Amino acid sequence: MQANDAVPNPLEDLDTILVDEAALKSRLTELGREINATYEGKELAVIAIINGAIIFVADLIRELNLSIQLDCIRVSSYRDETRPMQEPEIIDKIRLDLKDVDVLLIDDILDTGKTLSRVCQIFRKLQPASLRTCVLLDKQTTRSVDFEADFVGFQIPDEFVVGYGLDFAERYRQLPCIGVLKPELQNPPEWT
Ligand code: 5GP
Ligand code: MG
Ligand code: MG
Repeated sequence: MQANDAVPNPLEDLDTILVDEAALKSRLTELGREINATYEGKELAVIAIINGAIIFVADLIRELNLSIQLDCIRVSSYRDETRPMQEPEIIDKIRLDLKDVDVLLIDDILDTGKTLSRVCQIFRKLQPASLRTCVLLDKQTTRSVDFEADFVGFQIPDEFVVGYGLDFAERYRQLPCIGVLKPELQNPPEWT
């Protein structure tokens, strides 16, 4: 590579940084403490909704001093405008037996609440001993269903954010911070 070749830097596509790397790290440690205290002495099944929760769950479980089973699920999007509006559904088969198990569902961000409220409805039928939810980000002003998470990393304003697992057209997940894309890069919106 020539010395003057431009190296793509996705951080330069951000307009603003809402949560920087240091803030993420220290909040993750606090969240880990809260979760450790809640489940002290118990075995926990951590179920992450991917792809969005992939970085968050990887860092979070390393803050937990608990016996953990980890699995991931994918949830179909209801934001596909090429098809009629539909309820989010779990695409994968849930492989762990969750009956009488303490379950913690992890998602990247709580927005309208439809995804987690639907996934919780499905998980309750599996008769877990307990079912709680943990999200890194919470846009409290955008809820369309009555749903709150048990553990929340940060409250953020109603902006489309990327980074630390969150994508725009599957890009930007690797950014070490949470930020808002420059307006000229936000069109058309891609929310899956
Ligand atoms: P909800 O069902 O609560 O409206 O939305 C949850 C899902 O929508 C998240 O798991 C995420 O996939 C997507 N989402 C909502 N807001 C944002 C955002 O600001 N940025 C990104 N990248 N995805 C979002
Ligand atoms: Mg998602
Ligand atoms: Mg997405």
